[in-house]
Amino acid sequence: MQPAAAHYSPALPEARYFAHRVELDAAVAQVLAGGQYILGEQTAGFEAEFARFVGAKHAVGVANGTDALELALRACGIGRGDAVLTVSWTATATVAAIERAGATPILVDIDETSFTMDPAALTEAIEDHQARLQTEGSGLKAVVVVHLYGHPADMASILKVARANGLRVIEDCAQAHGATLDGRMAGTWGDAGAFSFYPTKNLGAFGDGGAVVTNEPGLADKVRMLREYGWVTRQVSSVPGVNSRLDELQAAMLRVLLPHLTVENARRRELAVEYQQSLAGSSLKTPQVRAGVQHAFHQYVVRSSDRDRLKEELRKQGIATQVHYPLPIHLMPAYERRLAHGKRGLKSTETIAKEVLSLPMSPYFTQEKVRAIVGVLSTCKDFL
Ligand SMILES: *Cc1c(COP(=O)(O)O)cnc(C)c1O
Repeated sequence: MQPAAAHYSPALPEARYFAHRVELDAAVAQVLAGGQYILGEQTAGFEAEFARFVGAKHAVGVANGTDALELALRACGIGRGDAVLTVSWTATATVAAIERAGATPILVDIDETSFTMDPAALTEAIEDHQARLQTEGSGLKAVVVVHLYGHPADMASILKVARANGLRVIEDCAQAHGATLDGRMAGTWGDAGAFSFYPTKNLGAFGDGGAVVTNEPGLADKVRMLREYGWVTRQVSSVPGVNSRLDELQAAMLRVLLPHLTVENARRRELAVEYQQSLAGSSLKTPQVRAGVQHAFHQYVVRSSDRDRLKEELRKQGIATQVHYPLPIHLMPAYERRLAHGKRGLKSTETIAKEVLSLPMSPYFTQEKVRAIVGVLSTCKDFL
């Protein structure tokens, strides 16, 4: 069997361009000829359209998803001397953003079924931290919840714990554009939602981009101020800020793509159903979707006790898979033994790190491509 080439299809960002080429080219040409390249009508237009899509009152475009998290935290007044709870099972960006804001991350274990923050582990981590607090004096201020792989975390339970402890809640929605929980979009549950428009995301630009969404006008104003040197009046900084702007070219292209997001997420869910069916009866654990959740399937992640051998077998059959992520944050050289966590440890995080495998997922796969992948999965049944 010819590996790879038989199932060749372009990577997601390129496929996205070809799927929407005419509209994207026109949008780019319009911006280039328009003479306004930073914070003009495209960015303002996208902010209004994205806020409406998510169901939030405000959206503020920034340079990338990491900045969206950092500026959301800073807008909440969080910085040096503060502690922020989050998960170790996430993209490095989540933890990097907390440290960039000046705060100290505290890691919480996940629920193995949804791969998202375990509310019981959150409660324990808060209690453990409060017991240490007398000596350390680092005040808990916020929780950054990650809707990993496109599955929303258990927001009702997490909000209850956070509110009882006076904590702000920021949602990391970098993998959850359009995901809903009880009919409400990811990003509208907490105080603010941070989105990334990195090219591989469900809503992806052709370069970097990000946004903060919120219903609090005060928070939106602060992010707006912080993203441009802390200006309220042009050229006069009211607070020390940064440069983190969504540019006009990216905003114009995002405006082309946003109206297609709902259909493209539905296409991801259809592919997930096909995978689920073709893997029925195998020993692989397929993704569970909690009641009330509409999954955005940024990734389709299965679990196998023999993950590395499975990855190699699929590679030989021409199917490229990925591991999200090879290491939890707390085991990476940059963070190892440096970050605090609750007393019970991060056992579920460490268990799933050895088992997860992301199967190919894209709304742009052709029927032939899907048939080829599903065919291989079905014939690999004995092995799986
Ligand atoms: C992609 C991602 C980010 C960061 O986004 P950038 O735009 O690359 O800075 C943050 N959190 C998670 C979970 C992500 O997947």
